[in-house]
Amino acid sequence: MNTTTAPDRYALVGHPVHHSRSPMIHSLFAEQTGQKLTYELIDAAPEEFESAVRRFIDEGGRGMNVTVPHKEAAFRLADRLGPEAEKAGAVNTLSFDGGSIRGDNTDGIGFLRDVTENLGWEIRGQRILVLGAGGAARGILPPLLENAPAELVLANRTLPRAAELEQRFRHLGKLSIRAFTELERDPAFDLVINATSAGLKGETPPFPESIVGEHTRCYDLAYARGLTPFQLWASEAGAERAEQGIGMLVEQAAESFYIWRKVRPDTKPVIAELKDFA
Ligand code: NAP
Repeated sequence: MNTTTAPDRYALVGHPVHHSRSPMIHSLFAEQTGQKLTYELIDAAPEEFESAVRRFIDEGGRGMNVTVPHKEAAFRLADRLGPEAEKAGAVNTLSFDGGSIRGDNTDGIGFLRDVTENLGWEIRGQRILVLGAGGAARGILPPLLENAPAELVLANRTLPRAAELEQRFRHLGKLSIRAFTELERDPAFDLVINATSAGLKGETPPFPESIVGEHTRCYDLAYARGLTPFQLWASEAGAERAEQGIGMLVEQAAESFYIWRKVRPDTKPVIAELKDFA
């Protein structure tokens, strides 16, 4: 092995990105699997997204993860798409090979693995509410619908954005949409998933407390040191469980790592280390 070769470069591009644990996760994966790579953070506002990606490619970068708010822009930028990205209309993993940009989406598989395998929660037959209709919601809606929930409701602050997703995914299963205020008419859900980015600003949107009952499990895609604002809100509303998205973060990262390096890291010790660090 040529030990003088420079490590391959990867990065996360988003706005904001300073809070991200992705560099720590990928460096733990690299250590565990003996891969030689670096992983950096690139903060790019929406108008700088494409130039930030192209600059990274010109500098020899091999791949990028894409986060808030660029997943739909990354979908438009990619020359080729993996099947999950094609379905979602959003990309969280870019690979640069032979002059073309490939886009994949690993959010759906990462979410599903954390919820069903790590936490052991059911999807089949459950009444499920997804809050938010951005890039992350696009990634998790297909696997949710494909796992036969009894009901799947999508609520978003901007209703036309939810309507667009209803059109896109209705062939996968029954999906209905609501404004947040309309949720007052629904009985408590079995599973409530927060896919809004409000927590990044320390906020919880005005969700009616009636969406949560004593048997409701809540899952926040966002993560934080300690509890997220949505976890606090869900606990105060009386939820049975309120988890945050650390496990999903590690699982989706493992899938990106596999796409880039063709090596599958063991996620369990990395999730444990991140939870200890939180
Ligand atoms: P995005 O594409 O920018 O979408 C943001 C979503 O949040 C939209 O639905 C937006 O509603 C809503 N929103 C933002 N601020 C709000 C507020 N103050 N009140 C109500 N709704 C608000 O972001 P994204 O990529 O989907 O990411 C969403 C969240 O998921 C982020 O916190 C991200 O960190 C997290 N995430 C975590 C993982 C993980 O692995 N754990 C993976 C992916 C994403 P409008 O349509 O009305 O603007």
